[in-house]
Amino acid sequence: MMKRCPTCNQPVERPDNPHRPFCSERCKLIDFGHWADEDYRMPSQEERPSAEEVGQQRAGTDEGD
Ligand SMILES: [Zn+2]
Repeated sequence: MMKRCPTCNQPVERPDNPHRPFCSERCKLIDFGHWADEDYRMPSQEERPSAEEVGQQRAGTDEGD
């Protein structure tokens, strides 16, 4: 049974390949980069308050002085 590199889909012929299941270190890094890219694609729900809103809140607390 011949294993194939998940990145380039070429047969991984060397049984002593340290980068298995990838055919080479390059394909291994490409696969890692793929997952990192998926992470970056995740939509961020974080929304920072605008400077205007923060200014209004601070003005309100200062009024009590
Ligand atoms: Zn490969």
